[in-house]
Amino acid sequence: MTDDAAVPRDRVLGSRLSDERARRVVLVSHCLLNQNTRYAGGATRRGAVSELVDELVDAGYGIHQLSCPERLAWGGVLKRHSLWLYDSKGKLRYAFRGVLLRAFVWWTRLVYSSLARQVVRDVTDYQRSGVEVVGIGASPSCGVLTTLDLRASLEVVAACPAAALTRDVMNEQVVLGCRRPGDGLFIDALDRRLRRRGLTLPAFEHDLAAELRGRRQTVLTSPAPRSLGRKSA
Ligand code: SF4
Repeated sequence: MTDDAAVPRDRVLGSRLSDERARRVVLVSHCLLNQNTRYAGGATRRGAVSELVDELVDAGYGIHQLSCPERLAWGGVLKRHSLWLYDSKGKLRYAFRGVLLRAFVWWTRLVYSSLARQVVRDVTDYQRSGVEVVGIGASPSCGVLTTLDLRASLEVVAACPAAALTRDVMNEQVVLGCRRPGDGLFIDALDRRLRRRGLTLPAFEHDLAAELRGRRQTVLTSPAPRSLGRKSA
């Protein structure tokens, strides 16, 4: 009997076939690599946030792009289900905004919870394979430190006539003006799923305000990552 017999086959092969991989992967919010899924008016690049890609490549991370939760829950790339309250003040649907918003949030949480379960499966697989995993989230739904006050944001779009809705209004008033400290809805779902499985994932926040205002940022250095899931002792 050789020493190899006492060691799991995957580890034996892993050490015999040792190669260049750094065994580090970063789970990245979809829109940072594909701005086509950003809310209308929020894309600052033609395709990807290239300085983030450069930073991750230089640091030796493999890049695992997460699905865009809003695209899945809100009716595709254009997020059609989120448009019902636009320019609605004074109209019949505005009177039902409370119940519509509750249904919207309920559905969103359901879809996000299902997606979070899949992401936790991926995290489990990487970690069991000896790969270090970190995450990078972008506000609002994927915000690690900041989120959106959905009710306040929808009030702004409801009160804004369609003809007055500009990119600036969208970014400064509807999104940045309604930001609050806290988890985005998807990160909240992911945090719960990780806790249930006893897993931890250090997660960094990509600062949406900095991106929208054209400021370059280095995500992996500041601020320190937040620990999602089980808190380290
Ligand atoms: S923050 Fe998350 S949900 Fe929002 S566009 Fe980016 S990937 Fe999609």
